[in-house]
Amino acid sequence: MDVLKGLEELVYNLWWSWTPEVKSFFELLDPILWKESEENPIVFLHNRDKWEDKLKNPKMQARAAYLVSKFKSYMKKHSRYMDEYKKPVVFLCAEYGLHHSLLIYAGGLGFLAGDILKEASDLGFPMVGIGFMYPQGYVKQRIKSDGWQEDLTQMNQKERMPVQKVLDEEGNWLKMYVYVGEEKVYFGLWKVQVGKVPLYLIDTNIEENSPWNREISSQLYVPDRELRLKQQIVLGFGAHLLLKKLGIQWMGFHVNEDYPAFVLLADVIHNMKQGLDLQSAIEKTKSYSLFTTHTPISSAVNIYPFHMVERQFLFVKEILGLDPSKLLELGVNPNNPSEGFNTTVMAMRISKYVNAVSRKHRDTVKSMWGFIRDDVDYVTNGVHVSTWLSKPIRELFKKYLGEDWYDLHDHLSLWELVDSLPDEELWRAHVENKISMINHIRERVRDRWSEGNADPNVLIAQGLFLDPDVLTICFARRMTSYKRPTLVLEDIERLKRILTNIERPVQIIFAGKAHPADVEGKKLIQQIFIVAKDPSFKGRIAFVEDYDEALAHYLVSGSDVWLNNPQPPLEASGTSGMKASINGVIHLSVLDGWWAEGYNSNNGWSFETPQELYNLLETQIVPLYYDRDERNIPRGWVKMMKEAIKSVVPVFSSRRMLKEYIDKFYSKMG
Ligand SMILES: *Cc1c(COP(=O)(O)O)cnc(C)c1O
Repeated sequence: MDVLKGLEELVYNLWWSWTPEVKSFFELLDPILWKESEENPIVFLHNRDKWEDKLKNPKMQARAAYLVSKFKSYMKKHSRYMDEYKKPVVFLCAEYGLHHSLLIYAGGLGFLAGDILKEASDLGFPMVGIGFMYPQGYVKQRIKSDGWQEDLTQMNQKERMPVQKVLDEEGNWLKMYVYVGEEKVYFGLWKVQVGKVPLYLIDTNIEENSPWNREISSQLYVPDRELRLKQQIVLGFGAHLLLKKLGIQWMGFHVNEDYPAFVLLADVIHNMKQGLDLQSAIEKTKSYSLFTTHTPISSAVNIYPFHMVERQFLFVKEILGLDPSKLLELGVNPNNPSEGFNTTVMAMRISKYVNAVSRKHRDTVKSMWGFIRDDVDYVTNGVHVSTWLSKPIRELFKKYLGEDWYDLHDHLSLWELVDSLPDEELWRAHVENKISMINHIRERVRDRWSEGNADPNVLIAQGLFLDPDVLTICFARRMTSYKRPTLVLEDIERLKRILTNIERPVQIIFAGKAHPADVEGKKLIQQIFIVAKDPSFKGRIAFVEDYDEALAHYLVSGSDVWLNNPQPPLEASGTSGMKASINGVIHLSVLDGWWAEGYNSNNGWSFETPQELYNLLETQIVPLYYDRDERNIPRGWVKMMKEAIKSVVPVFSSRRMLKEYIDKFYSKMG
């Protein structure tokens, strides 16, 4: 069957994950299998016997054929960027958040990287991504009845993942090696197809390696310093080598956060092998490189003892006759030379451009690193709209903004049409999302109950009593000190009065993982969980386990309010609030990161202190939400939802972001 062949190709391209018709198709074909497979079309395809007969139905045939042809025309579509840019930009990152069937992400940085690749594909901008294949996904979270987070290991199962081996001319798995110190570290290469953009993943877990080197790409951000340095070296040097091996000529490098920064050093060494002296080699690499810095938290910067780094670079003496200490100077922080080799400092020195990820973050980066670079620019982050928009809201855009709304979605004037959305329809779409979210959370609780031995208090703390008629605030993100997840609990009695009000109650949903090594983060989760279990809160606080991409889709579209209160200026940008706003979920946030640009006083709220937060809730948010007309529509609330959509979609989308990267940096490389 031709259609089957087409479907096979289609499911190995993540394009399907941001194309709602494909999801609907699989769901229609076999709703139970779709659910059982956790919305993973590869698993779906492996269970062909369950749906093959149904596909023989002429209507299903036609639908499948339509999707396959839609996919083919997407892949073939020409763009002006393809004429202008013959060589790709190589995008490098340690993690990519693309879909929950591919567990190679930890959080925000990964989703940003994933959204950039998707957008490059949509825009038809030539790009190649490079990262790691981790045999082990980021931890799965389980909360014990005392509120303490358990970290469960989840193994990535390749046969369930949208990955394919890259093969050599003889049809064998393509493998190569880089030197780390005196040792050869081998890696195999995987490919993920993200629409038109290939993403290559380096995998050191192969038999050619010693057991200790197989571990190099074992998991995200290993805490062991030496292993971490080896990860950075293999990612950077491996990336450079694989580009050469695959014959990919690049327009430039986009180093996303410092983890892959050694690609720049690999390029400098390569240039020296071609005969350039060190300074000219650096200048050459610099001319086509961009470094994006994300975290203003100094403890997150990667710094290694010099002797540790020097050992890894002894080989340059042999091949270039160069004293490795000359290279090490690139990572010396002039303000603190003895701290060690700093990969952020190195990246800043070997890049033509350095950018921060919001306007406010630019100022923070300047105050942190101004003594190395005083020309730091910024491109505020954005989210991939087709990925993060819920189906009911998307249907409304299609109906009221036009079938081609997605092609035009970074045009401000298009969004004036949001005013023409009937309040009733927008509200109905939102309520539909809210009910889906609450049903989903309750179903998780039900699964937990059916496993047996569950403490009822724990089930209540996980959201058993959530009510779709109640104003719902969500706080979902990595649980770590600077994000201040417990800020809203500061005046616990006042909060209790707000939540348990009989006439106008409020409920809060928390979700988020703490990094396995972050004991403080785990304590914060425990603190929340204990309050959630407290009967005097009447089940109005829930902590939902295992925040990940799949859960995020429910929360960012089904809540009423998205709460965000990091310690300024530590949130470089934040993106979950953008995902919420495009779905009409209203942002309630301190003025940090993107919200310092996004807030316009009509599209959400801003506050600084917990007291201001309570005041806002009591005097504005709760009354606005419960102020209904005779048809039970909260007109004022819906107006604000429209303001949120109008002001956020065109500006805080990955489309605007990528175009800005092209205009400001990519177009000036080389
Ligand atoms: C968007 C997203 C993040 C990042 O959210 P922030 O606002 O940057 O904290 C983290 N995790 C998941 C699952 C996401 O979808």
